[in-house]
Amino acid sequence: MRRLLICLISLTLILVGCSQKSTEVIKPEINSVYYEVFVGSFYDSDGDGMGDLKGVEEKLDYIQYDLGATGIWFMPIHSSDTYHKYDVSDYYSIDSAYGTMEDFESLVAEMNKRDMDLIMDLVLNHTSTKHQWFQKAITDNLNNQCTEINECNYYNFSSEYIAGYHQLTNNLWYEGVFWDQMPDLNLDNSLLREEIVDIIDFWLDKGIKGFRLDATTHFYERNQESNIEFLRWLNTEVKSIKPDAYIVGEAWSGESIILDMARSGIDSFFNFSFSQNSGNIVKAIRNENGNKLAQQIVDYNKALEESNDKVIDAVFLSNHDNDRSAGYLIKDEDKKLAANIYLLMPGNVFVYYGEEVGLKGSGIDENKRLPILWNKDGVGVTTGPKDATYQQKDPIYVDEALKDKDSLLNHYKRVISLRNQHSEISRNSVEIIDLNDDRLAVLDYGSIVIVHNLSKENVSFELEYQEVIAIQNEAKINGNTIVIDGKQSLIIKR
Ligand code: CA
Repeated sequence: MRRLLICLISLTLILVGCSQKSTEVIKPEINSVYYEVFVGSFYDSDGDGMGDLKGVEEKLDYIQYDLGATGIWFMPIHSSDTYHKYDVSDYYSIDSAYGTMEDFESLVAEMNKRDMDLIMDLVLNHTSTKHQWFQKAITDNLNNQCTEINECNYYNFSSEYIAGYHQLTNNLWYEGVFWDQMPDLNLDNSLLREEIVDIIDFWLDKGIKGFRLDATTHFYERNQESNIEFLRWLNTEVKSIKPDAYIVGEAWSGESIILDMARSGIDSFFNFSFSQNSGNIVKAIRNENGNKLAQQIVDYNKALEESNDKVIDAVFLSNHDNDRSAGYLIKDEDKKLAANIYLLMPGNVFVYYGEEVGLKGSGIDENKRLPILWNKDGVGVTTGPKDATYQQKDPIYVDEALKDKDSLLNHYKRVISLRNQHSEISRNSVEIIDLNDDRLAVLDYGSIVIVHNLSKENVSFELEYQEVIAIQNEAKINGNTIVIDGKQSLIIKR
């Protein structure tokens, strides 16, 4: 009634808006859907062309209601000289291009009111050369003022060339494996570890849920045991401050390394082998082989559990380092099938902003981080990374996608809503049901079974059921015989 009243009042002011706006949201039992946001390309609240934190706050209705995400992962928002901000110059600040600490606090308060979780990128492998730690380390090195307990030892210096090191003077080199402007931190230093605890304490105290850890396999180059030890230490420190904090690590590598890293005890690692153009999901769609994919999902989750029975998978299709999936999942039906598969996998899922509308971009990193197009008029649309070279052909506008019931965006909304209604998908262990048909992926979560048909053909199978929930096309049912259309998925309640 109150909503109707608000609509009527609004109608006297503007004659649009209320009919399309969905405020119905099913409160999920478990928050398991994160939306990865590159703030600079997301929503510009003040018309300067740069996405900002106020813009994200203005778009929380979109993220929570139009999409159904239960949390946000922010790529770095701390002060930094680059557009990507993975080189932090002050861990206690908000980059002024994105807004102020007040904007951040306002956003977190609003998210907490909505029961949404915020995790932030925490870049601990390296800093910016502009960071005061590095500036002090150089000064002290040049003035021969290094002692065992000062900033000189926050970084790795050498008096001679080593691979991955950069020259400062005739006899002074520093490690910077990714870039000479990103000196690597020496995470063995106990004073630096105290600084890290202060930083995590500072941000957890602001009310965030946890952290996404960048480049965890590089903390100690080619030293897996030290990487695991550091993560174990960090996990203990974070959980001693906030026992229900969530930590997800980037270990951009193959399964065996990720499974080994899971021993560290952090909550999740991103699942790289199922993501991207070359990953298991897209391969299975191309080969129309669902049964093999189901087996891979089950095997991976069992292996994770063996490594650490508390770890959960962190599933994604693409992220800020990958080509946009709309560039290789050409057909609408394949985009939607890929969404069904990854959005209904166990663990937590991460949707990269723009994925839900089929935003495109590939090649250099800037092209993978382009502005999401809210509308044709450009209201709120950012200018994006200045070195980007990719031109969107047939651009898709969010406001139009919202009104189109068959859009990819509304498909994402439906699948995520179903995930949010069935917490067993995110938290139960998963088994395969082999129906002796390679085309079908049949995943058993206990009280529900999820069936994906990866082929173009209609496939019939037998399964006892209480209810069959279609994501798009209704199934044809006769007794226990269920016919699933090509490229479709069903959620079957037992
Ligand atoms: Ca702005």
